Amino acid sequence: MPELPEVETIARLIRPDLLGRTIAGTSVKWLRTLGGATRSGLTAHVKDREILMVGRRAKYILIGFSSPGVSGSRTVDTWLVVHLRMTGRLNVEAPDTVPHKHTRLSLELDNGNRLDFIDPRKFGRCVPTRHLEDALPELGPEPLEGEFTEAFLLEGFRCRRGRIKALLLDQSFLAGLGNIYVDESLFAARIHPQSPACSIPRHKVRALFSAIRETLEEAILREGSSFDTFYRTPEGQPGSYQHQFQVYGRHGKPCRVCERALKRIVVAQRGTHFCSNCQRLPRKGA
Ligand SMILES: [Zn+2]
Repeated sequence: MPELPEVETIARLIRPDLLGRTIAGTSVKWLRTLGGATRSGLTAHVKDREILMVGRRAKYILIGFSSPGVSGSRTVDTWLVVHLRMTGRLNVEAPDTVPHKHTRLSLELDNGNRLDFIDPRKFGRCVPTRHLEDALPELGPEPLEGEFTEAFLLEGFRCRRGRIKALLLDQSFLAGLGNIYVDESLFAARIHPQSPACSIPRHKVRALFSAIRETLEEAILREGSSFDTFYRTPEGQPGSYQHQFQVYGRHGKPCRVCERALKRIVVAQRGTHFCSNCQRLPRKGA
């Protein structure tokens, strides 16, 4: 599933083709894509409106529209909240391009191009809304913004006996991380994924804070990871961060630090990759 770096990459790549464009029409081929909204509801939220912003919150792409028929306004009046889930993709297509057979929704732009939402497995959603809070679940801070600090992690881990991996996957605690970047960040900080959050010593919390930031920043530079997923950039290219993986998907292969075979276990119902030598469980009472 696309995580923060993949979603950020898509938002950055489609933004220049969308900003300032007005929606000329809509076409919905799979109604459930709208997450409960109707075709006419979508039209009312986007048609004849200018795209004022293309951003990201957690793993959601946010497209912000002006009031209808008002050009020059900078105030976002409505939103389309896009959740790619497993296989969703957003592509900006030229007018004469034949739509992909798994296109679920298209927005026609005033220059003739189309923004197509393509989603083979149909789990993805594009939800029109006037109020972001209605379309987004409870979300923790953005890991690449100022609200995410070492102090936030120290405070957040205190009194939490649950496993660190489960906590980092919890979007209401910290937004945007998924299985890949949690495994990679925990390895970088040398923390065992089953460690109770409250048991992690301060110096490792500090290391984890840096590891999360550095892992995500590096992954964005490399346009995300295309490993065992359908993820492609809107230009049809795979990301390249999978070549940097230290642990994810490498079980059975030697750890790049100590050369012991990496392990795979299940934590929080997710396949979890780690080095049992470099990432030790804290001793009880330590
Ligand atoms: Zn190791």
